[in-house]
Amino acid sequence: FQIPIAVNEPVKSYAPGTPEREAVLQQYKAYFNSQVEVPLYIGSEEIFTGNTRSMSPPHDHQHVVGVYHLAEKHHIENAITTALEARTKWAAMPWEERASIFLKAAELIAGPYRAKINAATMIAQSKNVHQAEIDSACELIDFLRFNVQYMGDIYSDQPESSEGIWNRVEYRPLEGFVYAVTPFNFTAIAGNLPTSAALMGNVVVWKPSNNQIFSAKVIMDVLKEAGVPDGVINMVYGDAAMITETLLSSPDFAGIHFTGSTDVFNNLWAKIGTNIGSYKTYPRIVGETGGKDFIVAHPSAHAKQVATAISRGAFEYQGQKCSAASRVYLPKSKADEILSFVKTDIESFKMGSPEDPSNFITAVIHQSSFDKLASYIEQAKKDEDATIYAGGNYDKSKGYFIQPTVIVTTNPKYKTMETELFGPIVTVYVYEDDAWEETLKLVDETSIYALTGAVFSQDRYALSVAMKALQNAAGNFYVNDKPTGAVVGQQPFGGARASGTNDKAGSAQNLLRWVSPRLIKETF
Ligand code: GLU
Repeated sequence: FQIPIAVNEPVKSYAPGTPEREAVLQQYKAYFNSQVEVPLYIGSEEIFTGNTRSMSPPHDHQHVVGVYHLAEKHHIENAITTALEARTKWAAMPWEERASIFLKAAELIAGPYRAKINAATMIAQSKNVHQAEIDSACELIDFLRFNVQYMGDIYSDQPESSEGIWNRVEYRPLEGFVYAVTPFNFTAIAGNLPTSAALMGNVVVWKPSNNQIFSAKVIMDVLKEAGVPDGVINMVYGDAAMITETLLSSPDFAGIHFTGSTDVFNNLWAKIGTNIGSYKTYPRIVGETGGKDFIVAHPSAHAKQVATAISRGAFEYQGQKCSAASRVYLPKSKADEILSFVKTDIESFKMGSPEDPSNFITAVIHQSSFDKLASYIEQAKKDEDATIYAGGNYDKSKGYFIQPTVIVTTNPKYKTMETELFGPIVTVYVYEDDAWEETLKLVDETSIYALTGAVFSQDRYALSVAMKALQNAAGNFYVNDKPTGAVVGQQPFGGARASGTNDKAGSAQNLLRWVSPRLIKETF
């Protein structure tokens, strides 16, 4: 197998005076002042249904940057038929040619589309340019490149044969279509979920989050230019319940590739369960869902290192990463020092539009998220077992801005220690220095989710106790590092418990879910 060795795309700096900064800011302005129309993409057709919703940047919610067109039931039915029609040729295409298409997509993003996809992500999802670059450029490029490498690993994994007998495995695509449901928070995930299934020879109906459609359009433009044949990846939006109902009622539904909330995933799973007798094949159910990710510091931890992990792990991209640190356990002897470092960081963070690359904090995704976050802050101001240690301000007059906020609680089961908030709020519980093992037990017992977690300690014995006690509390476990920022090819990503099926994004294990192997034994 001659598969190109994948390399991680280097992150560009966007420092003042660099050409990439110039290009992305120019593109940002062009998008900001444009009226983009996003059609449905079904087969070769771009369908403008006329029933539209407007798109606005979260940091400037009265400003409209375009509209997207909503599907009706017949469009979704048509997407299924179109995908299935495209399946025969796509599944039969030599794998090298499928791989080439996605490698070309990676290079288009690395080059001519880089400014476009980053600027679209800045507009649609309110990412600052650095967060956009590591997501919509680098991580998406890495997914595309590394998946090709993993595909090669899978296809070359063959059983032993012996004299007169040839055993071989044919890694067939699933018999039907795959439904990809993607979140707003990572353009890379939005790109990865449909393309990873398609790379393995599947056809896909993709429903991006309404809040990401503006940048999803750029992904579709790239895929078309890269040569993904019509009908292989179809992109639709509209009433989510109707779309899901229509797709999951089809006997040809063969799998779901999902990232989003635990509740939505549970509902999808339940629907699939109800329909289970009607499918041609057992569908693959792959999902990455919520998280309530922890940082636990031992008394031996370096205070500054823990503080930086909190500031970056909890507040980068306004805490809207599934991996974001949202509950922190600090030892009494170090808590003040760590918290005062965090407070200094928060006070130095600039907040505002992503148009200014020096803004570390931009807006949260939409009004309902803003309102929910603000209500938790107000509640903490009233509750006796909680105090606002830092931040606590918010303002939605122009955009949905929430200041990074630290709540300190005396109650380890305080509401914001357990509920996923998906915003720039972190809750801290201070434990007695001699209660390391009890604290670890508490962390594990309150881990309904198990996505990411981080432990800080300079004491190896304390660390190994933590590794064992928290064995099932996180699918991605970080030692002396923040719990965010997994890099494709280095830290495959995913969690268990209520955080999903743990079919690591960016791994051969994930791609294996999109094939149905046929073992062939031939004797001579
Ligand atoms: N992979 C991302 C990280 O490690 C998080 C992905 C997500 O939010 O779903 O930070």
